[in-house]
Amino acid sequence: MKKRARAIKAVRRVGASPEGAGARAIAATEPVAPKKKPGKTKRPLAPERVAAIVEALERTYPGAVCALHHRSAWELTVATILSAQCTDARVNLVTPTLFKLYPTPKDMAAASLPELEEVIRTTGFFRNKSKSIQGAARAVVERYGGEVPRTMEELLELPGVARKTANVVLGSWFAIAVGVVVDTHVLRLSRRLELTKKTDPVKVEQDLMRVIPETKWIDYSHMIIQHGRQICLARKPRCADCTLETLCNSGDKTWSSH
Ligand code: SF4
Repeated sequence: MKKRARAIKAVRRVGASPEGAGARAIAATEPVAPKKKPGKTKRPLAPERVAAIVEALERTYPGAVCALHHRSAWELTVATILSAQCTDARVNLVTPTLFKLYPTPKDMAAASLPELEEVIRTTGFFRNKSKSIQGAARAVVERYGGEVPRTMEELLELPGVARKTANVVLGSWFAIAVGVVVDTHVLRLSRRLELTKKTDPVKVEQDLMRVIPETKWIDYSHMIIQHGRQICLARKPRCADCTLETLCNSGDKTWSSH
């Protein structure tokens, strides 16, 4: 329990990240706030309700994993930086060429910036992203002997890496749960499911860390992201096809059985 409280506090300390600002900008365009109708859920955070949500997700998305293609912690770090304001599918089209040209952090650290920009151009914000991935490459080479570090504190020191990226790398590659990945899908669905009322990703993460069992922090994000892509769409959620429908009282619902 102490470990969990410490982890939640740590999220608060790094709240003002540029990555968080990006997610907030996306959240502001989502049709999730304020709710059109008050939720009918009497105790939205009741442990049995949260457990039922997680169980339904596990049944629907068994073995859900990160959709970004990667073969190492370094590749996952780069892919996650590139995925800001971009689809995973688009990132997956770019990374094979990128890692063929620059297979190691050392290669990327020595790359020509204009060339790097050209390779990742289609992921958007390519100038900033090029600087971030090259800066991260240099830091990994100079400070960590070419190996991606395994702690939140160290990862947050890398250029372009904020909590979301660090949580993705720690959770998906190292299987270390120190937080919950909050992207646009996790934010939207966690609000619709009334697991949080916040819109700031850092505060949403803290809320989720309080209600979701620590052993489910990594999987929750993977499953919710799948659900957000396939069923609980931003503009028109497919509630009639949703395995969480009986548990959901969102004002955004397009169909309801109850
Ligand atoms: S019932 Fe609709 S709004 Fe609720 S989680 Fe399912 S798809 Fe999303």
